[in-house]
Amino acid sequence: MNKLKNGVWVSWNENIKHDYNRLYEITSEAELQEIIKNSKKVRTFGNKQSSADISAGVDALIDIRNYNKIISYNENDRLITVQSGIKLVDLIEAVESKGWCIPCLPDINTVTLGGALATGTHGTSGQLLASYVENIRLVLADGSIKDVDKNDELMDALRVSIGTLGVFSTVTFKCEENYTLHIKERPEKDAVWMSNLKEKIDQFDFLRVLWMPHTGKGYVITGDKIPENQPVTVNNGPSYLKYRRDVSKILYKYTHVLPWLTSVANKILAFAFFNSEKEHKGSLYQATVTKSRGSTLELAEWTIGIDNFPAVFKELKHVINNWGNKAFIHIPMDVRFVKKDSSWLSYAYEQDTVTVGCVSRNAKTADSYEAFKTVENIFIKHGGRPHWGKRFKAKDKEFDTLYPKWNDFKKLRQELDPTNKFLNNYLKKVFNEA
Ligand SMILES: Cc1cc2nc3c(=O)[nH]c(=O)nc-3n(C[C@H](O)[C@H](O)[C@H](O)COP(=O)(O)OP(=O)(O)OC[C@H]3O[C@@H](n4cnc5c(N)ncnc54)[C@H](O)[C@@H]3O)c2cc1C
Repeated sequence: MNKLKNGVWVSWNENIKHDYNRLYEITSEAELQEIIKNSKKVRTFGNKQSSADISAGVDALIDIRNYNKIISYNENDRLITVQSGIKLVDLIEAVESKGWCIPCLPDINTVTLGGALATGTHGTSGQLLASYVENIRLVLADGSIKDVDKNDELMDALRVSIGTLGVFSTVTFKCEENYTLHIKERPEKDAVWMSNLKEKIDQFDFLRVLWMPHTGKGYVITGDKIPENQPVTVNNGPSYLKYRRDVSKILYKYTHVLPWLTSVANKILAFAFFNSEKEHKGSLYQATVTKSRGSTLELAEWTIGIDNFPAVFKELKHVINNWGNKAFIHIPMDVRFVKKDSSWLSYAYEQDTVTVGCVSRNAKTADSYEAFKTVENIFIKHGGRPHWGKRFKAKDKEFDTLYPKWNDFKKLRQELDPTNKFLNNYLKKVFNEA
C-alpha cells in the first residue's frame, strides 16, 4: 500500500479541492479494512468525476482505483465478481468478452464501479447500474466485513448509499446475454418527440433524447435489437461532427458574461452538429457509450416521475425561453428513461423515471451558471430528485419530502456509522448531522 502525506485532493474538473493528512492507495481488502478501522474520519474516492462534494474533505482518504481486479466468473448464471475500484471500461470489456452485457450503461467508461454504484449512476432504457448487483462485500465503519446478498433486507438501502453505510469491497454483477442494437439518430421537433413518450419508451430497446434548449428540437437516438449479422446501412454523418465539443467550448466561452449568447450558440450548434441523420449498429457499449472526451465540464442532473415530466418540460421551456431570465442552457440536456426499482435512495424508487441532464461546458465558471439554480427550482417544485454525484443545493429538508425511505435510511446510517466516520461536511448537511 502506498501512503501519501499532507496533500491537496483535486476533483476531475478542478472545481473541488480539499487538504488531506493521509492518502492511502490500497490494493487489497485487508488494507481497506485496516484503514477504515483505524481512521476517525475517512472517505473513499474513485475517479473523482463527481461534481458533488462527496468524495473527500476529511483527514484520511482511500484511493480505491488500484483495487481493481476481476475475481471470478460464474458461467452458468452469468455472474462476474470484481473489486470495486475497477473502471467501467475494464468491467464492460471483460463482460463483453464472455458474450454478456450489463443492460443499462452510463455515457462514460472512466468512472470506477464503486463510485458509479454509490451515486446511483444510470444509463437509458433499463434500470440503474446498481440494480444489476447480486452481492456486495461491505467494509463497515469498525473495519469488519458484511456480506450482503440481493435478497438481504440491507441491499435496498446499500445499492445507492453514497459511501455512507460502508465501503464496497467486492461486487458481483448479474449480466445478460449481449445483444446488437440498430441505432438511428435524427433531429425532431419537441412536439414530435414528446408525443406518446410512454409508448416510445416501450417500443424501443433504447431511447435517448439530446434536447437542445432554445431551438425547439431534440436530437433523438433510438435503438432496436437485431440479429448480430443483420446488415444495416451505416451512416455516421459528416466527418466534421467530431469537432462538436471543441466548437461548443469556443461558442460558449463568454456565455457566463453574456448568458443570452447561449441561445445564439445553441442555434448554430444545432444547425451544424445535430442536423444530420445517422445509422449504425453495435452492442449497447459499442454503439452508445462515449469513449473519450476532449475537455472537462460541470454537470447537474434532475429526475422526475414519467407522469410529471410533461408539466416539468413545459415549465422549463417557458422559463428559459423568456429573454428576461439568465438561465440560458448549454446543449444538450440529456433526456433518458430509467425503469423503477426498489433502492431506497434511487431516483427511480418505485416510479418509472425521466432523467434530465444540465451541463455547463465551462467548468470553471459553473458557480455563475444560472441554469443550475433555475433547473433545480423547477424540478424540486414538481417533486424531482437530483443525481447524487452531480451539482445540487437540496438538503435533508427537501429529501425528507422527496424520498419515502429517507428517514429509514438516516436511521440505518446512524446505526452503521454511529460516529459519523464516513461523513464529510457536505454530507453532514445532506443528512442534517452536527
Ligand atoms: C463526463 C461525465 C459523464 C457522466 N455520465 C453519467 C451517466 O451517463 N449517467 C450517470 O448516472 N452518471 C454519469 N456521470 C456521473 C458519474 O457516473 C458519477 O459521478 C460517478 O460517481 C463517478 O464515479 P467516480 O469513480 O469518479 O467516483 P467518485 O466521484 O470518485 O466518487 C463518487 C462517490 O462514490 C463513493 N465511492 C467511491 N468508491 C466507493 C466504494 N468502493 N464504496 C463505496 N463508496 C464509494 C465516493 O466516496 C463518493 O461519495 C457522469 C460524470 C461525468 C463527469
